[in-house]
Amino acid sequence: FRHGEPSEVWIDTPNGKVPFGQNHPVVIVAGPCSVENEEMIVETAKRVKAAGAQFLRGGAYKPRTSPYAFQGHGESALGLLAAAREASGLGIITEVMDTADVAKVGAVADVLQIGARNMHNFSLLKKVGAQDKPVLLKRGMSATIDEWLMAAEYILAAGNPNVILCERGIRTFERSYARNTLDLAVIPVLRELTHLPLMIDPSHGTGRSEYVPAMAKAAIAAGTDALMIEVHPNPAKALSDGPQSLTPDRFDRLVKEELSIIGKA
Ligand code: PEP
Ligand code: MN
Repeated sequence: FRHGEPSEVWIDTPNGKVPFGQNHPVVIVAGPCSVENEEMIVETAKRVKAAGAQFLRGGAYKPRTSPYAFQGHGESALGLLAAAREASGLGIITEVMDTADVAKVGAVADVLQIGARNMHNFSLLKKVGAQDKPVLLKRGMSATIDEWLMAAEYILAAGNPNVILCERGIRTFERSYARNTLDLAVIPVLRELTHLPLMIDPSHGTGRSEYVPAMAKAAIAAGTDALMIEVHPNPAKALSDGPQSLTPDRFDRLVKEELSIIGKA
């Protein structure tokens, strides 16, 4: 795992190129777990943009634990993400779950997300490695750091150098309070092991909106290059991950008042 200079990943958005990397400001990705309808995704995009986010997240294809849970609106949600991109100027990050959908999702997304459950899906990793859109690779919920880095290596080896790693919490013996154990120690560890930029997702990492601000602040203090935060206009009514979603007002306060005073480590 020897490496030289930290790499930078520059991503095209409607508002210009946004750099991810150690020598650049923290990039903020925000939005709902799932794209539910046009009004909510466009409204959320405008609110998170006004708060200071550079990217909108939102799932069209959702990897749900239960096959009976909401699976995402699929292709029609991709159209809604395109509308939100146009209306807000934000870059779009959305998950691709199937090799058959990579081109279709890549036609709308500025960054393709590989979710925690697909971190070990080697055909999907090879497929996103063989196309041009940057890739956000989430850590599998039970993946070691070495397995995660090797998953990134599949993408790099297939020819795509634009990979960002995202810690989203892992499974430990502690299951009662937070949804996962957010492993912030990966920040200094990965600085030794890899040149790739890092993102922290305190929303999936804790599962509770009350815990998200503290962990977002901690991630910046520890030196993360980017944050992913779930924001929903009405968390109580969200079709997925409501309990961990911030309201737009809470997100605005977090970014403008609480995160802005913390220097990147
Ligand atoms: C997500 O970010 O939408 C998601 C499903 O997260 P994870 O893959 O980390 O569970
Ligand atoms: Mn979610």
